[in-house]
Amino acid sequence: MQMLNEINNVVISPYFNLSEFACPCCKKIMLHPLLLEKLEKLRKILERPVYINSGYRCPKYNHQIGGVVNSYHCIGLAADIKVKDINLIKLLGYAEDVDFSGIGFYEKKNFLHLDVRPTKRIRWRE
Ligand SMILES: [Zn+2]
Ligand SMILES: [Zn+2]
Repeated sequence: MQMLNEINNVVISPYFNLSEFACPCCKKIMLHPLLLEKLEKLRKILERPVYINSGYRCPKYNHQIGGVVNSYHCIGLAADIKVKDINLIKLLGYAEDVDFSGIGFYEKKNFLHLDVRPTKRIRWRE
């Protein structure tokens, strides 16, 4: 069915489309408004596109790619992002300004994990 290609193709904020956050395997999605709000804020500060490497993950997909059990990606609270032409340390600084509660710094793979977990702030590096 052709129209299924349009599933989740919904503009949800000035800079993001819902489809960017959907699970790649099944197109299912959960997205917390606070995560979107903070990503939107980050996008405005950066003045350049923020690519969502990974948004929502269904448990099956999360397992497939070796994500941690109970990942915040599986409840719509996390996104892995990539931004072109910006140093990852600099990007980290901007993410800190926006105050995500969880920030993972993935130096080799060149991306940041950002989440809005309700528990205490946590930072890690890989
Ligand atoms: Zn899936
Ligand atoms: Zn992540």
